[in-house]
Amino acid sequence: MDVHASVKRIAIYGSTGSIGRQALEVITAHSDQFSVEVLTANTNDDLLIEQALHFKPNMVVIGDDTKYSKVKDALSSTDIKVFAGEKALEEVAAMDCYDLMLAAIVGYAGFKPTINAINAGKAIALANKETLVVAGDIVMRTAVEKRVPIIPVDSEHSAIFQCLVGEMRNPIEKVLLTASGGPFLGKKTNFLVNVKREHALQHPNWNMGAKISVDSATLMNKGLEMIEAKWLFNLKPEQIQVLIHPQSIIHSMVQFQDGSIKAQMGLPDMKLPIQYALAFPKRIPNDFPRCDFRKINTLTFEDPDLRTFRNLSLAMEALDKGGNLPCIMNAANEIAVYAFLRNRIGFLDMTDVIEKTMEKVSFIAQPSLEQYYESDGEARSYAADMIDL
Ligand code: NAD
Ligand code: MG
Repeated sequence: MDVHASVKRIAIYGSTGSIGRQALEVITAHSDQFSVEVLTANTNDDLLIEQALHFKPNMVVIGDDTKYSKVKDALSSTDIKVFAGEKALEEVAAMDCYDLMLAAIVGYAGFKPTINAINAGKAIALANKETLVVAGDIVMRTAVEKRVPIIPVDSEHSAIFQCLVGEMRNPIEKVLLTASGGPFLGKKTNFLVNVKREHALQHPNWNMGAKISVDSATLMNKGLEMIEAKWLFNLKPEQIQVLIHPQSIIHSMVQFQDGSIKAQMGLPDMKLPIQYALAFPKRIPNDFPRCDFRKINTLTFEDPDLRTFRNLSLAMEALDKGGNLPCIMNAANEIAVYAFLRNRIGFLDMTDVIEKTMEKVSFIAQPSLEQYYESDGEARSYAADMIDL
């Protein structure tokens, strides 16, 4: 037997990020089952170099092409191929040297490499939810055409996916998408108006990249996840219910047509959904801490406060109307979060930027890929002009 036959060759897009680094830990613990073939980063050249020297991938890509020579020089004693720039990220995604892409770039920047990988027939472990928010119809249609599995990494969607194993023929009545509520759970507008970057970056249960941390604080993250769930599991908007569950033990639930509800549970640790997506359909052993129910006194649930966290209402509107509205919303949100992280606008201003951009950019009910790109660009420049970026 060829011992290498079962080694899955992985491309980690966004290897220097929170998800990327945790994926490398998972792979290190299971180096008999996974090999690292591609690593990519945007600007963090030092960490990319360190990861490359350690994991010896076939190739690396640095998004910021001003950093090409530094990475190239640092890896000159190895036979690792070095590429740079946005186009290289897209081209490498279509190369033969790997089997599965972990799509862990943050934001719209992850879209083109991911769609290229799908077109090239690669399996996708999807952390980059924005890809489905931007053009979920095209992504899912292409995946079906190319017979490419899209395995969610987002913990809620991994939970739903796991609940659906063995239920292929059983329709879903609804999904209960749980949310921790973020660092400002229970707070009202008069508090949020003064919130700064530092507060928003402190999530109670998860340690994540800056953008998703802010999205969790505004509940936009849950809105993006509703749209992500719609596409992954082919749901109608009314089949997706958001439930605040501050302990983050139940990662989401599926209710079937007989009223039976399945939940997937565990401690909040992204390494578990990452490992599940990489190893799917297998479950492989690990030594992560286990959930001990004797130590968890209560699991609580409540409705989200849509009046205070208006980003979630905006996302629900985008989910309902569909077309290019989620794409527009996503672009405006990326600009708003960027500005908030640089102390250019306040916490609540983010909602205004998103709302006005959604009103302004023309609605297209069934956009082509080109029209999605245009909507993204238009929304970005409208939002950026509004805040004078
Ligand atoms: P992060 O900011 O920690 O890392 C982002 C990665 O993307 C980095 O490697 C960075 O170099 C790369 N990147 C950023 N901009 C880029 C660009 N323009 N071009 C090329 N590469 C670029 O983010 P993260 O927290 O790891 O999140 C990654 C994705 O996973 C996001 O879509 C997020 O919503 C999703 N996700 C994250 C978590 C989590 O716990 N961190 C959980 C669920 C889903
Ligand atoms: Mg999530």
